[in-house]
This record gives sequence, structure tokens and C-alpha cells, in this order.
Amino acid sequence: MSIYSRGLHFLFPPLCLHCEVRMVKFPPLFCSHCSLFFNLIEPSTRCPYCFTENENRMRCLACQKRGGVALPTAAALDHIGPVFTFVRKMKWMPYLIEAGVSLLIAQWIQLEWPLPDLIIPYPEGLWMQRGTISARLAQGFARHENLSYQPLLKRGERMGLKGRGKVEGKRVLVIMNLLEASTPLEEVAEVLLKDNAEGVYALALARSIY
Ligand SMILES: [Zn+2]
Ligand SMILES: [Zn+2]
Repeated sequence: MSIYSRGLHFLFPPLCLHCEVRMVKFPPLFCSHCSLFFNLIEPSTRCPYCFTENENRMRCLACQKRGGVALPTAAALDHIGPVFTFVRKMKWMPYLIEAGVSLLIAQWIQLEWPLPDLIIPYPEGLWMQRGTISARLAQGFARHENLSYQPLLKRGERMGLKGRGKVEGKRVLVIMNLLEASTPLEEVAEVLLKDNAEGVYALALARSIY
């Protein structure tokens, strides 16, 4: 196989990435059935602080009970079926990152959140920060929208910030690959607000439903 045809094969695989149905005429990565899972979540159907299903667009009971800082939080997609496959394959198919960035931007526009001054990636691991999927999505988002990008959050025992005064007076958008129930969003909001961020928002590509 020549490099050229291998490249084509890579960009336009003959099989759907998720269910491996043979693709006849469509160049997209997923077949028409699987591509339905990539419709953006309608924000009005979710709790604005944890993005679980909630018809009246109010802070849900679980969020009220938890108390603490209410950090506006959203995701583009639910982490199920083909989306699960997509998120997993992003690790070794870097060109999928661009698709992830487009989904994030589209959801951000739909949310009508204010324009951020700063994009910060969620620190996925304790040690590794650079090159994580969250970091690459955040970088892509910042580049597309011409915003500044700084990986300022760090994880230790608790969430921390690299340096002081860097988010002062700024509206911060935290970008993450996967939002899980265990994601310490309150800690993220706390450290950024303590450093006098003007506002903090969190946007994930996919939200784990477990
Ligand atoms: Zn499929
Ligand atoms: Zn909630």
C-alpha cells in the first residue's frame, strides 16, 4: 500500500469506527446510524451545573445538596456507544482531536456563554499535563477562537494553581475531555475564584453517564 493510499485509508476508513459497518458512499468516520450519537446535547434539558438530565433547567437536587460553588458546567455529548469509541480512539488517532474541538466550539456557541479571556485545560493526571487529550482539545479551542491558553491548574492532594494572580479579573473556560461524577469541579472553581477569576465555566467533550 502506498503512503498516499494508506493516508486515504486512514482519513476515510471503509468501516465505521464504532460498529464496523461497511461505509458505502460516506466519507465520515461513523456510519449514519452511529453518527446520530454526535448530535449536540440540548442544554435546556440539563442541569446547568452538572449537566444531568433535568427538564426545568434549574440547579438539580443533587447539586443543591452538594452546596459549594456552583460552577456552570456542560458537555457536548454523552459518553455512550459511538461517542465512547470516539473518545477512546482520539488517543491514537490525533486527527480526531480536530473533530472534538469543533464539537466543543459548537456546544459553547449553543450555550451562549460569555467569551472567555483564558482557556485552561483540566489537569487529567497527577503528573502528566502536556499532551493529554484535555490539553490538546483546550489548545485547539483556544487556537480556533484566538484566545489565550495556559495550563495553570495542577493536581496534587488537592487542586492547585501554578503561580498567583494569573487569572485575576479574567473569565476562565476550563476544557476537559471527559466529565465524570468524580471530577472535582468544586475544587477547580474554588482555586480559580480564590485567585480572583471573574467567572469560571467548565466544558467537556463528553459526559460520563455513570
Ligand atoms: Zn456504525
Ligand atoms: Zn446538577
